[in-house]
Amino acid sequence: MTGALSYDVFVADPIPQNVTELVPNGDKREFSPLSITMVAGERDAVLVDPPMTMAQTADVGEWIDASGMNLTHIFVTHGHGDHWFGAAELAERFDAKVIATAGTIEQMHRNLGMRELFWDALFPGQIPITDVIAEVAPHDGIDLEGHLLKIIEVGHSDTDDTSVLHVPDIDLVVAGDVIYNGVHQFLRESHGDGIDSWLGAIDAVEALRPRFIVAGHKDKSLNDDGARAIEETREYLIAAARLLRENDNALDFFNAMLALFPSRLNPGALWGGATALYA
Ligand SMILES: [Zn+2]
Repeated sequence: MTGALSYDVFVADPIPQNVTELVPNGDKREFSPLSITMVAGERDAVLVDPPMTMAQTADVGEWIDASGMNLTHIFVTHGHGDHWFGAAELAERFDAKVIATAGTIEQMHRNLGMRELFWDALFPGQIPITDVIAEVAPHDGIDLEGHLLKIIEVGHSDTDDTSVLHVPDIDLVVAGDVIYNGVHQFLRESHGDGIDSWLGAIDAVEALRPRFIVAGHKDKSLNDDGARAIEETREYLIAAARLLRENDNALDFFNAMLALFPSRLNPGALWGGATALYA
């Protein structure tokens, strides 16, 4: 007989990027909020997607400490540095093992390779020096006090080789960047058939019928209603695909998307995607 599972989310607030050029709507460039999820049993816990900067990692360390839980694993859903650069530090502090799929580990190496040109340029001196210490996750998933946490590979979503963590016992999916919640979606890697692949990844999450979804980037004032987050993430991509066809430059595309999705956080993320897709 095992006790019930629960989950909790730490949202790291947006931080400024080292970019002087403003977003066309007048916003300063910033990074979207980050969701760090803890799935907890009675004593042990699994952390999903540790944050990026040293300051965020220290805050999450305090949060884990205050929970009193024994961290056994840190699972990384995909290779983008904002979901794992702090992993090694937390793994050492809490004596936990970092795991990810083989595909994600490959993408982690790719992100480490571009840290100087991309990540350190955006956040100079703020990202910890780190190696990729993740090991390939067991194929059937993670055992948390007798409950199975399933790792589901969904392929390309907002980057290549992405995965989600399904916790059937509490109807939860920790979705990384496959599902967004009230935040502009990262379209920089959505060229070619990227949007179609992402829509397929959303279908794979929907097939799990999760009541709750933690999106990797969420507006913390919103709930984790799974059906709503799935629908809104899909709607955003379908609109983006149409508006990419209808507009021949990044600014018109950006303005058209912003008119459709005025309340999502961080239009700068949309602008970053727009400039890349029209480059
Ligand atoms: Zn992300």
